[in-house]
Amino acid sequence: MSDDNVLSSLDISDTDIAMIEDWVSERKRFTTRDGRICICGHPITYHRSAEICMPAKMTCPCRMAVPVLKSEDTRFFLRKTDGPGALHALTRGIVASALKEKKVEWIETPACEYPDCESPEGVKVIPVPINNTVTPPRISYKPMRVNKFLCETCRIRLEQQ
Ligand SMILES: [Zn+2]
Ligand SMILES: [Zn+2]
Ligand SMILES: [Zn+2]
Repeated sequence: MSDDNVLSSLDISDTDIAMIEDWVSERKRFTTRDGRICICGHPITYHRSAEICMPAKMTCPCRMAVPVLKSEDTRFFLRKTDGPGALHALTRGIVASALKEKKVEWIETPACEYPDCESPEGVKVIPVPINNTVTPPRISYKPMRVNKFLCETCRIRLEQQ
């Protein structure tokens, strides 16, 4: 018997269920350990004293430890970055969490971090690994020390510089 059938025998409303859901997530959330995720896509707890980021089986060049997200289950945030957007460890972790119905939430709604971005407020962004050892900086397809949220217009600008 599925959960739905079990619930259908109980005289409780959707509002009751939503209330219990909130209660469960409130209790689970951030009570046991640090659920913060860095912009590199890995748990803050893997950034030893805000220095080196070392998730499972790899070393991430991130030295920033910039918390952007809170996660109910940080195990989804141990992936590698192979580029921006869907190739980025942060996006991969967020999507994997959503698919497994694990709660994630932004610490602050991400906005484009490109200097002089002209896009309207609320523009959609993706995490982008940036190679700033070259001039001008480039979007990278490898894990990078610097990761920024960029809107589409600014990504195109960066590519065409
Ligand atoms: Zn990091
Ligand atoms: Zn990292
Ligand atoms: Zn922008």
